[in-house]
Amino acid sequence: MRLLLVEDDPLLGDGVRAGLSQAGFAVDWVKDGQAAKLALQAEAYALVVLDLGLPRLSGTELLKWLRGTGNTAPVLILTARDTVADRVKGLDAGADDYLIKPFDLDELAARIRALLRRAGGRAAPLIVHGKLEVDPAARRVTLAGKPVELSSREFAILLVLLENAGRALSREQLEQSLYGWGEEVESNAVEVHIHHLRKKLGAELIRTLRGVGYLVDKA
Ligand code: CA
Repeated sequence: MRLLLVEDDPLLGDGVRAGLSQAGFAVDWVKDGQAAKLALQAEAYALVVLDLGLPRLSGTELLKWLRGTGNTAPVLILTARDTVADRVKGLDAGADDYLIKPFDLDELAARIRALLRRAGGRAAPLIVHGKLEVDPAARRVTLAGKPVELSSREFAILLVLLENAGRALSREQLEQSLYGWGEEVESNAVEVHIHHLRKKLGAELIRTLRGVGYLVDKA
């Protein structure tokens, strides 16, 4: 899952990016509101982590613009403790959740998972697909009750295919969900990961639609 982080504080931004990468997300980080606008026009993000106090264009203005474009990606705002009015404005402008600085990185990751879950129309924390069970928080996979070891990229691809079950995703879409800016994409990486996933989870789970991409059928 690819996220956009909008935060002008270099130390905090660096920490959040590192923490979320550790939690398995691909993170693009921008440091002002205008750069965020450009990024949001260029890429499809699963979720946005948005600081409200930003140079060039405030978080609230950015959020109003984003919702005005019809973009429904979940937005989690980051705010200072003493700015209740800002928080209210942010939520009213279309944010889905907020965290007050300073916050715990584990809590941020858990809230992001919850927002992504709801955006995907799931209330339960486990994804069940036939005999396959995936726990996004613990990053655990079992098939017919037996644990399956997946690399972090394999896990990410499986998760994005399951979250989009019934919809074909192109190789480019899968690559975009795996890699943040500046990360080198190995050629054929997606094909190789899919090959390994089929070996570990059975050939029939992930279907190839020639010329279109990859698909996991709805459970
Ligand atoms: Ca700020």
